[in-house]
Amino acid sequence: MADTIVLATGNRHKFAELKEVLGGIPIEFRGLVDFAPAPEAIEDGATFAENACKKAVHYARLFGLPCLADDSGLVVDALAGRPGVHSARYAGPDATDRANCDLLLREMAGVGKRTARFVCVLTLATPNGASLSWEGRCEGEIIAERRGEHGFGYDPLFLIPELDKTLAEIPLEAKGAFSHRGRALAQFIDEFDQIQKWLRQQPAGPASRREGTVP
Ligand code: IMP
Repeated sequence: MADTIVLATGNRHKFAELKEVLGGIPIEFRGLVDFAPAPEAIEDGATFAENACKKAVHYARLFGLPCLADDSGLVVDALAGRPGVHSARYAGPDATDRANCDLLLREMAGVGKRTARFVCVLTLATPNGASLSWEGRCEGEIIAERRGEHGFGYDPLFLIPELDKTLAEIPLEAKGAFSHRGRALAQFIDEFDQIQKWLRQQPAGPASRREGTVP
């Protein structure tokens, strides 16, 4: 059970970032694409932690394997924490990254206080519903024009002042050293030996579906 972990995200950018940082861990990391299409988790929690847990437990039960899920987003001080848990659908239910960034630029036009942070909660869940979580943050500022071609989401508008670079000006291989996701993953990696012991101790859970089945 502890030899395979499913990276339970449908976002290909997040998946690539997770795989990049987890490269040195001696575990087989699989993606949702390795399984038959599964119903998506309902992300109706009020916090990143709640949504990460919902996703991880949902997929762990479906696949009968430990699942690591990421819930993340942008918290802007001048917008009272928005877009927050609604970051993916800030500009509407099927919003593109471009539409979300355009709305953020409009809402931040003329605003003096530009501080913001990305927050990521990673949750590892087992099929019996047990879970562990880690949180990472990345502090920065929202700039008034896009900069950079890397990354995804709000990366082109998120400046890390110490580097004078947006996250979109940092290539994938380097982003993990600064990003919220990379910081949450660093804790996961630090604790990995204990995590493996914890996984081995978990009783089998009520896995309702196995790989290759369509619910
Ligand atoms: P989730 O899939 O509900 O966790 O939504 C995450 C959303 O937050 C993404 O669609 C992006 O809009 C934003 N986001 C999360 N992490 C990042 C990042 O590393 N860079 C840029 N945007 C991000």
